[in-house]
Amino acid sequence: MLEHQGSCHCGAVVFRFNAPLITEAMLCDCSICRRRGGPLTTFTLSPDALKIEAREGALRSYKFGTEIATHHFCDTCGIFTFVETRLTPGEYRVNLGCLDDLDQQALDIRSYDASAL
Ligand SMILES: [Zn+2]
Repeated sequence: MLEHQGSCHCGAVVFRFNAPLITEAMLCDCSICRRRGGPLTTFTLSPDALKIEAREGALRSYKFGTEIATHHFCDTCGIFTFVETRLTPGEYRVNLGCLDDLDQQALDIRSYDASAL
């Protein structure tokens, strides 16, 4: 297991979690993800597993449609950091673009057809 650390652009939201070496990512084609972009973890993290440190008031969230998925972003820089997923409510997928030490170019990207579910 490795400790992965990430943040939004301005640093108001920092997070970390333990997971094996990350070699693949998921691109979701739902109405928000296809506008926003950003490769997601292929695995989900429980609230206990994702350690979030956010400056007070920094973390904002957005819901739409079924209002199950909760998309979290930084109030200052606007960067999307993680999402509480629709398929596994309460669990998170992380925006891999926010990780400190990850070569995005090396990721095996898998498309995920959310609209077909
Ligand atoms: Zn920020």
